[in-house]
Amino acid sequence: MTKRFTHLHVHTEYSLLDGASKIPELVAYAKELGMDSLAITDHGAMYGAVEFYQECTKAGIKPIIGCEVYLAKGSHLGKNNRGMYHLILLAENDTGYHNLMKIVSIGQLEGFYYKPRVDKDVLRTYHEGVICLSACVAGEVPQMILQDNLEGARRCIQEYIDIFGKENYFLEIQDHDLDEEHKVSAELKQLAQEFGLGLVATNDLHYVQQNDAAAQDILLCIQTTSTVDEPDRMRFNNDSYYLKSYDEMEALFGDCSEALSNTNKIADRCNVKMEFGHLLLPEFPVPEGFDAVSYLRHLCEEALPKRYEVVDEKVRKRLDFEL
Ligand SMILES: [Zn+2]
Ligand SMILES: [Zn+2]
Repeated sequence: MTKRFTHLHVHTEYSLLDGASKIPELVAYAKELGMDSLAITDHGAMYGAVEFYQECTKAGIKPIIGCEVYLAKGSHLGKNNRGMYHLILLAENDTGYHNLMKIVSIGQLEGFYYKPRVDKDVLRTYHEGVICLSACVAGEVPQMILQDNLEGARRCIQEYIDIFGKENYFLEIQDHDLDEEHKVSAELKQLAQEFGLGLVATNDLHYVQQNDAAAQDILLCIQTTSTVDEPDRMRFNNDSYYLKSYDEMEALFGDCSEALSNTNKIADRCNVKMEFGHLLLPEFPVPEGFDAVSYLRHLCEEALPKRYEVVDEKVRKRLDFEL
């Protein structure tokens, strides 16, 4: 078996005050490790997508455009419940990319309450072309498992299958040495069998190199307005949230090789093409015999006597200049 692995859960510096990976360094290091595909899944936003796409393309790495969205408990329009889940969405094709932009925009414009949030109705409407992973321990299914609510977990899984389709929904397993993750992974392996779903191994990547952990910790302090010395502040449990090599991922998930190889299968399925170099402006219909430029001049000429009592040389010059 070739040593191939694709990171599908990746936070860059565009996960503001949470991710410390600068895109050029991230892509360069993935390249150095021999990876041929890489995803971007920032928290609730896609600000980094274009830079990431261009940087990956330059390096000969396939960019997989995604997002780790926040899912409201209940409607994303309700603004009284701070609780929310995480969910990874990846664009499988151009339709999926456009749907992802729609989902993320709805989160920012309609669902913002502490974080940009969407709900399952939004996912139902814009699911086409989107591959979904069940996310970290903050995902809905993992949360059900952690509450020992296996029936709830099953109900959720069925709901996600109904939304995305069996081929487009994967159960995500992570290992940053958290007890919660071990418990969740054990159950997810069972549930994957039960539902005939694919497992996928990810590292919740927040920085490129292991020794970047301290810098990311400071970002987190800025975000949560706490100081590094505060004992009970929010912090990551260790420094394992970096861009791990194939061997490192294999060491963690070797007993579940399907979860490793599925990352590549998903990467192979994801094909989004961004086009640059031309303007994407709406067509404005103009009457026969005009183009946009001549019609604008026509309208201005027509309106000129209405605006000025005397249309003299000075006014004409001004119009030419403005046009
Ligand atoms: Zn997460
Ligand atoms: Zn994450």
